Amino acid sequence: MANQEPIYAAPSTDDSADIALLRRYRAAFTQSREAILFFQHGRISDCNPAALALFCIQDREQLATLDIIRLSPPTQPNGQRSASESDTYIKQAFNTGQAFFEWQMRDLAGREFPAEVMLYRLDLPEGTVLQATVRDISAQKAQRQALLQRKQDLLEAQRIARLGNWVSDFERGEIHWCEQIYQMFGRPLGETITHAIFMQSVHPDDRERVQAAFDAALHGAPYDIIHRVVHPDGSVRTVHERGQIEFNATGMARRMIGTVQDITEQKALEHNLRRLVAILDSTSDLITMHGPDGTMLYMNSAGRRFHGLPATSVNDDWDPEQGWRRYALPQATRSIAETIRLFHPEWAAQRIEQEAMPAALRDGIWQGETALLNPDGDEVPVSQVLIVHYDEDGNVDQTSTMIRDISQQKRLEAELERNAITDHLTGAFNRKRFDEELAKALARRRRSGISTALILLDIDHFKPVNDTHGHAVGDKVLVELTNLIQSSLRVPDLLARWGGEEFVLLLPDTGLSEAHYLAERLRQLIAAHGFSVVGTITASLGVTTLQSTDCTHSCMKRLDEALYRAKHAGRNQVIEAPPIVGACDQPH
Ligand code: GH3
Ligand code: MG
Ligand code: MG
Repeated sequence: MANQEPIYAAPSTDDSADIALLRRYRAAFTQSREAILFFQHGRISDCNPAALALFCIQDREQLATLDIIRLSPPTQPNGQRSASESDTYIKQAFNTGQAFFEWQMRDLAGREFPAEVMLYRLDLPEGTVLQATVRDISAQKAQRQALLQRKQDLLEAQRIARLGNWVSDFERGEIHWCEQIYQMFGRPLGETITHAIFMQSVHPDDRERVQAAFDAALHGAPYDIIHRVVHPDGSVRTVHERGQIEFNATGMARRMIGTVQDITEQKALEHNLRRLVAILDSTSDLITMHGPDGTMLYMNSAGRRFHGLPATSVNDDWDPEQGWRRYALPQATRSIAETIRLFHPEWAAQRIEQEAMPAALRDGIWQGETALLNPDGDEVPVSQVLIVHYDEDGNVDQTSTMIRDISQQKRLEAELERNAITDHLTGAFNRKRFDEELAKALARRRRSGISTALILLDIDHFKPVNDTHGHAVGDKVLVELTNLIQSSLRVPDLLARWGGEEFVLLLPDTGLSEAHYLAERLRQLIAAHGFSVVGTITASLGVTTLQSTDCTHSCMKRLDEALYRAKHAGRNQVIEAPPIVGACDQPH
């Protein structure tokens, strides 16, 4: 407009109207917020107050001396010299009537700022003048820069989070992907995306599921699906998509906006974790894990089975977002202290609290034997490992407990121990155990004078029993005889098989007459007993007591002599060995 018409209206015939018009223009000029300058031949001829303020020009006097080029820095941001660059625009304004451009300005105080400049050629009666309108755009530029930065930050954050966003505009039939999604789906950047192209990227085995989720979303269901995508090079990634539909006023689906997150690594980690848990669940050891606050985080299948808790599978307990679902754990076992008191007998609980926990906190691990209570309240011996995991800051992160039922091992050990000291046919103690007890009794006798008696028993005419009925029947007689003797003994008495069909009895706190009486009772008991197959048998017995001068050899020799005499005297007899006074001639 300004280039087509002179700024001053054509002179009016009406003087007063003319003056009013001039005033209006003058007011517009002086009150404009935009800086307006007039210049001719490089010199500023006039400017409005906004221009004085913008360029820090003190007054009209200073203005009169000002060269227009003084309001620019020597060079422009593009590296061009301001003088030559401005000439181009001035020429353009002269030739075409106007020129609009962005320009780096500098006020007289030295502050540089970007501006939008509009040059107009004004053809006045006194000659051609250029009018420059200058608008400081530093604030907008800074804002635009900040916006650009925020957009870049967002893109960077999305790249780091492997997160992309998309919009599907149903009304226009367009799908917009952000850069990230093109990368995630392995598609060329800028490719026009359609629903068909999106579905092409979805793994063939997942397509039906994705389509169903999408169709359901169109009817208002939340779009939230994990599926695989196949890149053109055949590589497969796993993504998590979430979307939200927007409806228009008539209730039609207008568009859907959503996000895609690449969770391939997370999935792989989860997969590994599931495999590990499957292994933990297949072991017969009881495994539990507690958080730093004592909250139980995990109990494996063996643990649940042992404690009579409902079995759950990995799939039931696992939540991809939350990890292990705590609600699947028993209410009463949510802290270490509660678990210990609930599942261990008193003595074991004390050992864990007072010994195991402090040691594991100190060393990271403790291993030892404790016991568990099964649901019936029975004590089960266990071997227990306690592991304390620390985080990088040295705080307790997790406590793991592994418990192995060792009751079978314990039973086996006890059996082995019993086998080592018992006779395998009759179950009576063997000679090794008898020798140990005899040595102890001799020491006791020498130390405190407490009397211990010995009885040696030999079946009469046992060889003919074997010959007549067979060895197996003979064995049975030996077992039956053992039980018979055993049933008439007191708790501290010890019965051992001395060898063949000879048995020896060690009777603590027993004097000679008492032992004689017992031997006589045994003789009668045997003679009166009806043994299976063979009927009645008899036995001969020798009796003696330990002397302070005795050694293992001397007392047994004496006992043997007593038995020999019983045999000699006609069998089915009890003979006492007279105590021999004198030192033992054999080494102890
Ligand atoms: P005596 O009255 O003199 O004692 O006569 P005896 O036949 O019992 O003679 P002796 O005590 O010397 O005999 C030992 C016999 O005991 C020999 C063997 O036939 C039998 N015998 C020894 N050990 C076993 C065994 O483990 N099983 C069986 N069935 N018989 C045994
Ligand atoms: Mg015999
Ligand atoms: Mg014999």
